[in-house]
Amino acid sequence: MDQIIVKNLEVFCHHGVYKEENVLGQKFLVSAVLYLNTRKAGRSDVLTDSISYGDVCRMIMAEMKKQNDNLLERVAERLAQKILLDFSMVEKVSIEVKKPWAPVMMHLDYASVKIERSWHKAYIGAGSNMGDRAAYLKMAEEQLEKNEEIRNLRAAKVIETEPYGYLEQDQFLNTVYEIETLLEPDELLEVLQNIEKEAKRTREIHWGPRTLDLDILLYDHFVTEEETLILPHPEMQKRLFVLEPLCELNPYGVHPLLKIRFCDMRDELRAMEQKNRRMEIKG
Ligand code: ATP
Ligand code: CA
Ligand code: CA
Repeated sequence: MDQIIVKNLEVFCHHGVYKEENVLGQKFLVSAVLYLNTRKAGRSDVLTDSISYGDVCRMIMAEMKKQNDNLLERVAERLAQKILLDFSMVEKVSIEVKKPWAPVMMHLDYASVKIERSWHKAYIGAGSNMGDRAAYLKMAEEQLEKNEEIRNLRAAKVIETEPYGYLEQDQFLNTVYEIETLLEPDELLEVLQNIEKEAKRTREIHWGPRTLDLDILLYDHFVTEEETLILPHPEMQKRLFVLEPLCELNPYGVHPLLKIRFCDMRDELRAMEQKNRRMEIKG
């Protein structure tokens, strides 16, 4: 990706864990690499097609002076977040905050913290089969949309589906949400679990009735193996109630492990279900 770079912007401010640092202040050097596509601006020569590095510098300056943090980690995190939220063209940012006068009573060029942050695309499966099912799904969508670290939510059509796994329960309403998020996978899961709590979700029977179930289906092309968060969702390829709405949003997306397009997975599952149904009628 193309880059816009600001190197060693000098800012005098008051971050640090020592009281003296907060009182006297010191020099910080901030470097930022903004990853974006500059092709359009490259062809048009118009600033509104890109980002003004002057604006970026002023924003960094203001953000550095806004509050006094203990840690460079915190300063870098705030700068990265602010850049990604304020300049929507930026997809990824790298920030380095240097402290050339770090009070360690030794000679050094500088001490610094360098981080990389970006927008991630995630797909969330939602289901409800208790109470006002449509209202629970609506609530979930609104809660996600309200979150500052989530943008560009797209919801698939809500569909009614037969229960899965544990069959002695009412029909489900299901849908899938596509989001862009600054949240890390485990943070996103926590946000989803808090929304489930708000819907008074209780866990009694595995795969049993629930007011609201929110699963992370995909998070970029991440693959994880921890039981508290398995990505891609391990059951997604077996579930039409996931694949149908997912395909509405991203039919040509590819499963990161199986390397099969979601629309092909859906077609195969549809055909299998039809075959099973024909066998049932015959039998
Ligand atoms: P399933 O995950 O098969 O759809 P479920 O949704 O009924 O079943 P829950 O009781 O909602 O299961 O979740 C059990 C645990 O699964 C959660 O506490 C969570 O830590 C874990 N989990 C693992 N991977 C994921 C994921 N991708 N999305 C959501 N939860 C996950
Ligand atoms: Ca689930
Ligand atoms: Ca779940």
